Formats: sequence, C-alpha cells, structure tokens
Amino acid sequence: MSFSSDVKRELSRQLEMARHCQIAEIAGIINMCGQIISQSDKILVKVQTENPAVARKYFTLLKKAFNINVEVLIRRNTQLKKNRIYILVIRDSHQVEKVLLATGLIIKQNGYVYIKMEIDPLLTQSTCCKRAYIRGAFLGGGSVSDPEKTYHLEFVNATYKHSKQLQQLINSFGMDSKVIKRKKNYIVYLKEGEQIVDLLNIMEAHIALMNLENIRIMKEMRNNVNRMVNCETANLKKTVSAAVKQLQDIEYVDQIIGLHNLPSSLEEVAHYRIQHPDASLKELGTLLNPPVGKSGVNHRLRKISNIAERLRKKRGGQSYD
Ligand SMILES: [Zn+2]
Repeated sequence: MSFSSDVKRELSRQLEMARHCQIAEIAGIINMCGQIISQSDKILVKVQTENPAVARKYFTLLKKAFNINVEVLIRRNTQLKKNRIYILVIRDSHQVEKVLLATGLIIKQNGYVYIKMEIDPLLTQSTCCKRAYIRGAFLGGGSVSDPEKTYHLEFVNATYKHSKQLQQLINSFGMDSKVIKRKKNYIVYLKEGEQIVDLLNIMEAHIALMNLENIRIMKEMRNNVNRMVNCETANLKKTVSAAVKQLQDIEYVDQIIGLHNLPSSLEEVAHYRIQHPDASLKELGTLLNPPVGKSGVNHRLRKISNIAERLRKKRGGQSYD
C-alpha cells in the first residue's frame, strides 16, 4: 500500500461530522473527480475514482447528508487489468438538484440553471467546513509521495479557477501551497515535510501524520549518523596519512644518520612510532617515559621531519626517496 492510499483510507473512515461539513466534503469530491453532465433537459452527477475507499466515503456521505442511495457501477480499467474504476451516479433529478444546490455547484436564476464547478464561499465559511472541503478535494484528486523518498503532496485540478480557490483555502491555514500547470491540469502542491505534516493535520489524518513524523525523525537521524561517520572517516584518513609521512621521515633519518644519533627524546618517540604505526599522538604520548601530551609528541615528530627534510636537501634536492 502506498502512503497516499493509506492517507485516503484513513480519511475515508472519518464519518463523525456535522452536516455542514459533510456537504463541504461532498463538494470537494465532486469538484475534483466529478462531472455534472447535462443531457437534454436532465442533469446528472457522476463521480469516478479508482480508489474504493473514496467511493465508499462518497457513498456514505450522500447517504448521511441527503439520504440518497447513489448508484454504483464498477468497471475494469482495460489498460491496467487489475485496477477497477468505481462510477457513482446520481440520476434522479430531484436528488441531483438537492445535492448540487446545497454544495453550491449550480445556481438557479430566473428558472435557468447555471453549472459552477467552483468553491462556494458560503460553503467554506467556518474552519470545520474548510477542513472538510480540503479533505474531500484530497480524496477526489490528491496524492502524496512516499515520504521515505521525497516530500510532495498535490491536488490535480481541471480548471485554473478551482486551483486558485483551493490554493487560497489551503493557504488560509498559514500554508504556502503553489500552483503549476501540468499538461491540461493545474496542480496545487506542497513541497516541504513540515507543510505536508500541517496539511495532514488540517485534514485530520492523525495516523498518517504520526507515521510521517516518525519517518522524518528517522531520516534526520540517518543523515546525522552519515555526517558523523563521514567526519570520522575524514579524521581517520588524516591520522593515517600523517603517520605514514612520519614513518617515512623516521626511516629516512635512520638510513642516513641512524636513530641513535638523534637526541634521546626524539629517538624514543621514533621507536614508539615504528612499533605503533596506527597509534594516535595522544596514545604515543602515554607510552613515553615520562608521558607527554599530544602537542609534545607532535612537536617531537615535527622535529624529526625537519631533520629528514634537511638531510634530503643536503643529498641533492630530492624530497622523497
Ligand atoms: Zn462544518
């Protein structure tokens, strides 16, 4: 199951709400995945979805808010054989009118009916109904990417007008959704993890919200661990390459003048470095008698390197053997 269908399944289970919210949610669903079809003197409302949870929710909302038993047709998608398409149709003209007038999707003037596939401002006056409308719009035409991969949530709108209205509605909750045109559609989208969390909260998808938060925390921890490991690896590489250089210098000094000709403090540290090529400066310091701190060891090793450098110069400008 995708994260998107998890969210929709959770939203489809929310049924305890006031009638005004039920109507707002129905409007959101019809505006996103519905059609108002006028055939000669008749109008019918058709909602089409591949998601059974969305079909179930729409069916239940119509039953609760208007006491309508909507007709359900199931078709197989001919291209994708496993997918079913659920088509829910309201045919009875009395019922059609009841639903469309209440959702503000038609207006009647002087005996004429005007179809308005828009968000009726009267419908989304209160915060609860704003939330319900967004929920319906997500069920009808929304999707959210798997947060393990990327943060992206979008609503696919058929018209520019509806996309701008939906954007405004979402942004009235302090969000920063954007609109972009994709092929024939207008996409309202959110890109940041935090904004997606906020939108799930607006829609009251609390389980999905918690799952998303957990994934965000895990991702952040993984990033921190990776950063730490990278940093440690870099430090280790530095230590190793410094030790390699020290060993080269010590061996060179030994070959040319013999370590026994170095001052005893340098000879001692040189011997320990040969015996413990992987030890850190601090560890080498504890082996010395008396023990010496990290900077003391560094100082002595640097002196050896300077001697090696001088010897190399004397022997004809070669930097390395
Ligand atoms: Zn309400």
